Amino acid sequence: MLGLRRDAALVIDDGRIVWLGSAVDVPAADERWDCGGACVLPGFVDSHAHLVFAGDRSAEFAARMAGQQYTAGGIATTVTATRAASDEVLRANVARLVAELVRSGSTTFEIKSGYGLTVDDEARSLRIASDFTDETTFLGAHVVPSGIDRADYVDLVTGPMLTACAPHARWADVFCDRGAFDAAESRAVLAAARSAGLVPRVHANQLQHGPGVAVAVEMGAASADHCTHLSDADVDLLAGSDTVATLLPGAEFSTRSPYPDARRLLDAGVTVALATDCNPGTSFTTSMPLCIALAVREMRMTVAEAVRAATAGGASALQRDDVGRLFVGGPADLVVLDAPSYIHLAYRPGVDLIRQVWRGGRLVRDG
Ligand SMILES: [Zn+2]
Repeated sequence: MLGLRRDAALVIDDGRIVWLGSAVDVPAADERWDCGGACVLPGFVDSHAHLVFAGDRSAEFAARMAGQQYTAGGIATTVTATRAASDEVLRANVARLVAELVRSGSTTFEIKSGYGLTVDDEARSLRIASDFTDETTFLGAHVVPSGIDRADYVDLVTGPMLTACAPHARWADVFCDRGAFDAAESRAVLAAARSAGLVPRVHANQLQHGPGVAVAVEMGAASADHCTHLSDADVDLLAGSDTVATLLPGAEFSTRSPYPDARRLLDAGVTVALATDCNPGTSFTTSMPLCIALAVREMRMTVAEAVRAATAGGASALQRDDVGRLFVGGPADLVVLDAPSYIHLAYRPGVDLIRQVWRGGRLVRDG
């Protein structure tokens, strides 16, 4: 499942892994690091994060924990704050969250727009995101903002907004769910995005059972994200497609909602990824280790399956074959745990077990 090696060593040169094998055979190198028997993993691949925003929604979280239900409408609060923020504030917010992600062991991450919802605010969100990652996602179709008719907004997203955003985005996403966009609107958004050269992804079946997964598979989406409420037909569709099911347990944890059943997807042969869904409304965590622990405890994944989903699974969701695993020729994106085994990621929940993070051969966290 994980391709474990014991007493292993690797050699890094110019940001890449150039040798990997048994420690007794390791060739000479300029510098040596002894990990002392600690577990070394590929850096985590967080394929779903909303990092470009301003404002604080902690009071909403507290209210929800006191009994209020989550609806997609809460996004409007962040939209107002994001539009009012300067580029400098937005960039500083992203930088802070990216630093958190990297400290938590994520060496590849996706960043979505979706809190601007005007042509200019979506385009600047993606320009800022592009300073931090190549995995940028246009999410103009997050919700219909207030003050505009639904049909007019879909025309905007598929027209001038897409034109302004496409140069800064690799992916396009749509929130296909109750309170957001229906199947026809989602198809229109993704078809237009595809014509502009973007690859679809879908927020699907988070709040209730709906057409999200079917639309994702039909439109050739790289991933259907959330997959909390699935019919047997949805599971069959995913199993028969290249669309990855990306599970986001931080959202269920933070909204006190039922978790998706990862076991059902894995047993059906679906490729599963884990991601943080870091966002200010429903999952304000940057911690992949937390998501791994939740996936094991709440979603019936084995520890090995969860670690694989947080590394190679995330890479599949981003259609990348160069990250999420360690191999000769690949980037030296590594996590060194303060633990003898990857199992500790789930066995010791809430404990910061990341000792070192190497990104492109550079030590970006040490201790
Ligand atoms: Zn999301």
